[in-house]
Amino acid sequence: MTDCIFCKIINKEIKSDIVYEDEDVLAFNDIDPKAPQHILVIPKKHVACLSDLGRPELPLIAKVYGVIQKLVEDKKLKAAGYRVVVNEGKSAGQAVFHVHFHLLGGRDFSWPPG
Ligand code: AMP
Ligand code: ZN
Repeated sequence: MTDCIFCKIINKEIKSDIVYEDEDVLAFNDIDPKAPQHILVIPKKHVACLSDLGRPELPLIAKVYGVIQKLVEDKKLKAAGYRVVVNEGKSAGQAVFHVHFHLLGGRDFSWPPG
């Protein structure tokens, strides 16, 4: 999608700090980190919201989660714990309408979230 900032990151039209890439998934550091580790993990296919994914596309999310698991291992986040967040829609504060998982680690997190 031409006006999607994450598609532009995927196409390298906008620079980002990439930490993982394969044919289906990209992971890069959040430009405005909310924790010492704040990585965005996204499918390369443009889908606006998680709930817009059709059933045939669900295996993409397994691939995204596989990358999250790899990053948890690489960044040694498992022992202390970490958080994975998806914001969807206005009430949840979704700002970029290209499916993305926030992987947050390196500090304690409160519950319930704000
Ligand atoms: P959300 O509110 O769930 O849609 O999260 C969007 C996230 O994208 C925010 O945490 C932003 O800091 C992050 N973000 C926006 N633009 C960029 C960018 N160019 N590079 C990296 N992260 C970005
Ligand atoms: Zn996009």
